[in-house]
Amino acid sequence: MTPISFETAAVHAGREDFRTLGVHAAPLDLSTTYPVGELADAIRDIDAMIAGGRPERNAIYSRLANTTVDRFERAFAELEHADDAVAFGSGMAAVTAALLVARQRGAHVVAVRPLYGGTDHLLESRLLSLDVTWATPDTVADAIRAETALVVIETPGNPTLSLVDIADVVRQAGRVPVLVDSTFATPVLQRPVELGATLSLHSATKYLGGHGDVMAGVIATNHDWARALRQVRILTGAVLHPMGAYMLHRGLQTLAVRVKAAQATAIDLAARLARSPAVERVYFPGLPGGDPRRLIGRQMTGPGAMISFDVAGGFDAAATVLREVRLLTPAVSLGSTDSLIQHPAGLTHRVIGEAARAEEGLSPGMLRVSVGLESADDLWADLNDALTAATATATAHEPREAVTV
Ligand SMILES: *Cc1c(COP(=O)(O)O)cnc(C)c1O
Repeated sequence: MTPISFETAAVHAGREDFRTLGVHAAPLDLSTTYPVGELADAIRDIDAMIAGGRPERNAIYSRLANTTVDRFERAFAELEHADDAVAFGSGMAAVTAALLVARQRGAHVVAVRPLYGGTDHLLESRLLSLDVTWATPDTVADAIRAETALVVIETPGNPTLSLVDIADVVRQAGRVPVLVDSTFATPVLQRPVELGATLSLHSATKYLGGHGDVMAGVIATNHDWARALRQVRILTGAVLHPMGAYMLHRGLQTLAVRVKAAQATAIDLAARLARSPAVERVYFPGLPGGDPRRLIGRQMTGPGAMISFDVAGGFDAAATVLREVRLLTPAVSLGSTDSLIQHPAGLTHRVIGEAARAEEGLSPGMLRVSVGLESADDLWADLNDALTAATATATAHEPREAVTV
């Protein structure tokens, strides 16, 4: 059979046995424990799982393995064109597991900012006793040492939506595995493993779930890392609940249509924001100057559906926009069917501290929008009204010191 397209795989992956099973929706396996048949068989399965593998017949206990989670993992690996995938109870649980595996192999990690606030904070906290060198996308090679076990990048970056050249970082990293947080892209727009990355990590809470009702993480990777990640997952208990896995697997079926529709609306909105006098700067890879390395077309098939912008009037104006929007939901997170708007300096990136925020060009007036599936005209009408209110308030209050957070 000729290889099927991404769109087709998104609908059919993980459903290959449905005809045999005589079902049309995935079975949901909620068992926490499983009756043991022949003891020798159970022991073989336990041994396989201790080694990081999957059981042949019996999962024994649901922290070790679960057939519904397994089904989602196999489907997701197929979409990422990876050997395997391992799912976790949250994106941060996935990040932690990857860092713990790296920690077993060497104490040094090279990381490139900007990263998700939680990942940045975890690396800075020394909670996992990792020695971290912060590099720029061009200085990764210089930062590698003999004991470097992992290079961590995120593209598109959060919240500035800057793109990092994955293949170039992989080349610079040499023998050191590269982890790409690909949450903002999804496999619809970008497949890091195909570009040489060892790990493609997602907060599945975002686009993969797609409806704001599942918290999960997933890493697509090779067999060696998948085994090591499963071993850590068993030990730390960072498992994904089967209900979450069921919903994620269902969400994959509409992933391509959701991401492409949201992206088309984002392209439209970014252009309108760029023309608005109430907006000082728009951060969007699809705008002129937004993709200096020309990675769209090469690394990503499109600019995605996340937009950040600086509101004229700084913190106060941004706070007014959040208060005034009626259709957009003022909330953190992203990748839901409804559009969300949030304030990175005050919310998602509060934890990294002011110095790191300033270094990343993360201003007090910046807002980040996750474009959903509403009509572009309706979203623009709502944003434009809120921006108009913000400009009016800012003018009324002038001159006044902007509040720095
Ligand atoms: C949300 C997010 C995370 C963390 O995922 P959780 O599911 O919230 O634990 C990591 N990376 C990126 C880019 C994110 O947006």
